[in-house]
Amino acid sequence: MLKLNDFFQPDNLQAALTILADSGGQLRPLAGGTDLVPAVRQGELRIKGFLDLSQLEELKGIKDDGREIHLGSLTTFSQLEFSPLIQKQVPLLAEAAASVGSPQIRNQGTVGGNIANASPAADTVTALVALEAQARLVASRVARTAPISDLLCDVGKTTIQPVELIQEVVFTAPPPGSKSGFIKLGRRKALAIARMNMAVIITLEDGIITRARVALGAVGPNPSRNLTLEGVLEGQRPSSSLLENFVSEAEREVARMLGSRPSAPYKREAVKGIARDLLTRLFFGNGQVVT
Ligand SMILES: Cc1cc2nc3c(=O)[nH]c(=O)nc-3n(C[C@H](O)[C@H](O)[C@H](O)COP(=O)(O)OP(=O)(O)OC[C@H]3O[C@@H](n4cnc5c(N)ncnc54)[C@H](O)[C@@H]3O)c2cc1C
Repeated sequence: MLKLNDFFQPDNLQAALTILADSGGQLRPLAGGTDLVPAVRQGELRIKGFLDLSQLEELKGIKDDGREIHLGSLTTFSQLEFSPLIQKQVPLLAEAAASVGSPQIRNQGTVGGNIANASPAADTVTALVALEAQARLVASRVARTAPISDLLCDVGKTTIQPVELIQEVVFTAPPPGSKSGFIKLGRRKALAIARMNMAVIITLEDGIITRARVALGAVGPNPSRNLTLEGVLEGQRPSSSLLENFVSEAEREVARMLGSRPSAPYKREAVKGIARDLLTRLFFGNGQVVT
């Protein structure tokens, strides 16, 4: 059972970082608590105390500085889903946020917590990996910036140090002429198998896909870009045959990545469905053109 004096609620970032450093990284940052609180309550995680981040204005807000988009790490899924800036410039991220759990979880869960929790199927992380987003990490005396994909090193594991906080996430919006989308295979009552998600960004010039970014979640320890699938799309014109090539290659990639895992047969089939649905929308639907 945690004692009351194990709970700290600083009102500025420097104070928070000092408390964290003084505790020798023994306190656990608490954002929305949607992962952390159940884990502590259920005894899956033993911690010395909480460092509540909720009062830290330095970790809040969604901004476009004209070059890059900045998301404070405390940005909730609901804030992402309903942000006019994100809806217009980064629709796949708004879609990923909208796909999360229930309204309560979307109002409470944060993008920083989604990254630090390092779940294989973290929805906004798949979108952020496709966007090649970076995280700015701060400690009491130092700061660093690292690609999110480099921070994730296994299921539930990151290279974030116990004395560091994610301050913000930074990325460049897809270039003009891009279409992007996110899709997720939800949990079904009949199938107790982990979710799978996919994020795709394509940039078109004169009808040719000049740049593609494809990320997959829940087919490895953490969401990751898939360069083979990007290569299938780049230099090609959207067409039904390209779509079918992509679907077949997605099946091969999932088979390769999952090997003999029990979920492989199911996920090989499942990825064909989500890949076909998402690319149909991007190729032939009104797939969210970024202007
Ligand atoms: C019922 C339910 C449904 C869910 N559905 C989904 C879903 O559909 N998709 C999905 O992706 N996730 C889902 N989740 C998981 C969860 O909501 C997300 O992972 C969420 O983003 C966690 O954010 P949080 O702010 O609640 O983090 P917390 O629980 O507060 O923290 C999670 C971890 O991140 C660390 N942390 C948090 N913020 C920072 C920071 N700024 N710097 C450093 N470390 C930090 C904490 O110390 C902790 O280790 C669900 C959870 C529940 C309970």
